[in-house]
Parts: sequence; structure tokens; C-alpha cells
Amino acid sequence: MTTQPSDTNLRTDLQSAFNAQRGHASQMALTTAEQRIDRIRQIQQWVNAHEAEIQQAMYDDFRKPSAEVSLGELMALHAEIKHTIRHLKTWMKPQRLPTPMALIGTRSHLIHEPKGNVLIIAPWNYPFVLCIRPLVSALAAGNVAILKPSELTPHTARLIKKMISELFLPEEVVVFEGDAEVSKALLELPFNHIFFTGSPAVGRIVMAAAAKHLASVTLELGGKSPAIIDESADVNQAAGQLAWGKCINNGQTCIAPDYLLVQESVKEPFMQALKASLTTMYSPDGQPVETSASYARIVNKHHFDRIQGLLTDALHKGATVAHGGSVNPDTNFIEPTLLEGITDDMLVMQEEIFGPVLPVLTYINVDDALQVVNKREKPLALYIHSRNRKNIQYILDRSSAGDTVVNDTLLQFGNVELPFGGVNNSGLGKSNGFFSFQEFSNQRGVMQREFGTMKFIYPPYTEKVKKMINLVIKYL
Ligand code: NAD
Repeated sequence: MTTQPSDTNLRTDLQSAFNAQRGHASQMALTTAEQRIDRIRQIQQWVNAHEAEIQQAMYDDFRKPSAEVSLGELMALHAEIKHTIRHLKTWMKPQRLPTPMALIGTRSHLIHEPKGNVLIIAPWNYPFVLCIRPLVSALAAGNVAILKPSELTPHTARLIKKMISELFLPEEVVVFEGDAEVSKALLELPFNHIFFTGSPAVGRIVMAAAAKHLASVTLELGGKSPAIIDESADVNQAAGQLAWGKCINNGQTCIAPDYLLVQESVKEPFMQALKASLTTMYSPDGQPVETSASYARIVNKHHFDRIQGLLTDALHKGATVAHGGSVNPDTNFIEPTLLEGITDDMLVMQEEIFGPVLPVLTYINVDDALQVVNKREKPLALYIHSRNRKNIQYILDRSSAGDTVVNDTLLQFGNVELPFGGVNNSGLGKSNGFFSFQEFSNQRGVMQREFGTMKFIYPPYTEKVKKMINLVIKYL
């Protein structure tokens, strides 16, 4: 299925692919756990056999180091696949539910049925895993799927298309490459579920389009994820974790720490440790970061200009560079850059940075730090670096975030047992393992009467019947 330049051709292609999948959805729904596992294993085998090609595609897209492809993309995908294969039979089993005494004679259970036709729209920053991981869950739940990878990583999008066309019939899974226009045309179709990963702004467009068909949505969005480093924190450890979490994938990670709130009393040792960590990671022998093979690039000129604009705006409004600051527009290179002297009116404190620029703010009382966090949209991640249990609990109790990691960074994505996702502006619904399986399933309640009836509550409502109704209410 290739998309056509003409709008009419595009819509005709999409409609016929959708219709073919709609016709096939009932057959997919009847697949056994073994058949679904077999499809998922095929993905696993293909990925194993084409690892070098996958790494090359992402290197060509934005110089992503192969180690970061292994770490951020393939490891997470393999973990999801293994976990799904291991647990799918259990997830698919009807789950017996308790019955209240008043409903004696019935029994109830829960079954997970596939939602049917699903659409998966993926972003460019982890272009392979964020397209294929939801597909694993969609297939596990017995759905047919259309995938729309990001146009900003065309090498990876092409490879995904190749993989899918080699492994699946188009009525099962099909890929449409293309930009926002293709996405918008897809969103007009009456999908049963849309799994979208991307920005909050486009998330709103997706949800509005889904509302037309009352399609359910999973929105994996972004935003400004803070990290709080209190005076009890192990500053060396925190600095290393935050330097890595900020700069992996060149800061283009949805759960990257977006800004830091450091307790004033530990600011100096923390900053020293943070600078030292960045130097150790990207210029261990004193060479410029630009020559480091471990450092990816900003995905394109548009995003380079956007981040440079944030930097210029901050410096213009009084921020200072504490580390880094150099850029190269010819290669979309931005050095890991620490900013101090931050104020609220700066764009770096209003927009998701999504690049290797890190504003460092300080606070004296933890309530001040919480105020900075809580006056913004609820973040996708909130990181707490502290060895003070009371402080950790205090922050947890008085904030809201999609996920929180205490004393580390980014690892929430790696634990398939943990629900991953945002809250409101940072997302709706959760992914990872069983949570993803649930997103792609309708949780259908089934009640069956085994014996007896409820006819003693039927009209006419005599005094006797009213008493029986009261009894039912009491024992419900
Ligand atoms: P984006 O929202 O610009 O694009 C995502 C997808 O939506 C792409 O496939 C794109 O073609 C499509 N799209 C773009 N404009 C559209 C429109 N008007 N209508 C319909 N579809 C449209 O996001 P991006 O730049 O690819 O990714 C970066 C964002 O994604 C960041 O905000 C980041 O935090 C977020 N993100 C979130 C997660 C997560 O798991 N929560 C993971 C990765 C990225």
C-alpha cells in the first residue's frame, strides 16, 4: 500500500485498506493465543535477523548511535515481546468475578475481546519501538491494525513498511507512510481504537477526530517532566543519571528530565558533578562533543531552529550558560547545555524542550519546588532524587504525574510490569505489558444465570414485592 500524492487516490487507498481489515477483523478476533503468539514471534525473529538494518536506518535518520538503538528501542521491544508471549494465555482466559448474595443463581466473568480496527500513529524520536511495541499488544489482543510511522524518520518508516509487508497480509496489518495529511485522512475513518504517541497538541486533534466515531483512544503524549534533587540526594549519582537521561537520543525523549529543581544548599556540588558527568560521557579525552560517536543529532532543521530559538530567548531574558552552549546548524548539532538564572517568562519554562538544553532552577523549601511543578500541566514523569523517605512521600502526596522514578531516570519505560503513560495533558491510558493489552481490548462483562429467577421483584409492586426489593438492596 503506497500513498498517492492525490488526495482522492489517498483516500481511496485508505478506505479500501480499512474495508479489507474491517472484513477480516472478526477472523482475527477468533485467533487463539498460540496463533497470536506465532505472529508476535515472527516480529521477534524479523527484528533479530535485521538488527543491523534497523540500527543503520536510525543512524541515517538522525545519527542515533547503535548502542542507543539497542538500549532504547530493541531492548524495550524484546522485553515487551517476551513478556507478552509468556503471559498472553493467562491474559486471554476469562476471569471469574465475585457475585453479590442478592444475585445468587448467577455467575459473572470478564473477557477481553479485541476492539477490532485499530490505528497506531507513531512519533519520530523512538521511531521503531513506538510503532512496533503497540502493534505487539494490538496483535496480542486480536486486532487488525493500520500503522502510520513518522515522516521525520523516513529510513525507519520504510523499514517498518518492509517488515510489515513481509510478515503480514494487508488485511491484518498494513503501513501507510506519510505526513500529517495522511494521518488526518486516516483519522476520518471509523476506527474502534486509536493509539497515538506524539505531542499534546496533535493529541488533541486525534481525540477530537476520535470523538466523531466515539473511538476509544490511548494518548501517549509529552510535556515538561521535572526532576527534584533535594539536599539529602546522592548528588554524584543523581548527576550521572540526569546527564544520561537528558542526553540519550540527544534529549529527544518524551520522559527526559525537562528542567531541574535543585535544593539551594547542594547546588554547587551537584552542578560540578553534572558537568563532570557530561564531560565523561561525551568528551572523555577532552575532544569536542561534536566528534563523539555516542551523541545523536537533532532530527531536522525545524527542530534545531526551534531549540536554538528557546536558547536564544532564554539568554536574551537573562539566563546564563553554565555548561556547553555551542551549536552547528550544518549538522543539527547542539551541545549538552546547562542554563542558570531561569525565570518563568522564558520559553524554556513554557514549552517542552525536547533537546539537550537543561534549565537548572533552585529552591529552598520543598513547597516552593512543588509550586513550580504544580502550576504547570501534569507531567509525563516526575523524578525525585532524595534519600529522605519523608521528603519522597511528601512530594508524591502533593504532586501528580504519569509515572515517577525515585533515585533514577528513564527506567520506568523498561519495566513491562509498570503502567507507562501520562495524565491529562501528558496522556490518557497506559501502556506496557498487560496495560497495553487492556488498551486494545474491550473488557466485556458476561453474566450467566445458572438457577433461580428475580421474578419476586417484578411488578405489580405489592407490599410483599417492595419488601423483597429492600432485601435485594440490602444484600447487593
Ligand atoms: P507529533 O505530535 O508532531 O507527531 C506524531 C505523529 O502525528 C506523526 O506520525 C505525525 O505525522 C502525526 N501528525 C502530526 N501532525 C498531525 C496532525 N495535525 N494531525 C494528525 N496527525 C498528525 O510528535 P513528534 O514530534 O513526532 O514527537 C514528539 C512528541 O511526542 C513530544 O511531545 C514527545 O514528548 C511525545 N512523545 C511521547 C511519548 C510517550 O510515550 N508518551 C513517546 C515519544 C514521544
